[in-house]
Amino acid sequence: MTNLSIIKCKACGTFNRNLDYCSTCGELINPSLIRKKNIEKRKKKHKEHLKKEQVEAENSLLYKLRNHHFWFIRAVGTILYSVWVIVMAVGSFLAWLAATISA
Ligand SMILES: [Zn+2]
Repeated sequence: MTNLSIIKCKACGTFNRNLDYCSTCGELINPSLIRKKNIEKRKKKHKEHLKKEQVEAENSLLYKLRNHHFWFIRAVGTILYSVWVIVMAVGSFLAWLAATISA
């Protein structure tokens, strides 16, 4: 049994036999290779997104305060961060409570 595959190129419409790349225009036509390429592209995009989020977090005021070289500003930053976390926890609890009561 031969493993013959004929794939039509999406870019130029040429039919190719057992080829990963189009014989006319060089476009990638192997579906599994295209899938792998897309997954890699998505992973790369996700990594860039995470990096961007980290840069944004490092540029935030609270992060700068908490990592300041002067101890007093670091202490103030830590206290502000703690207050922020508590406020967010209470706020999300109230939001959950409101959603539960109204449902
Ligand atoms: Zn082609």
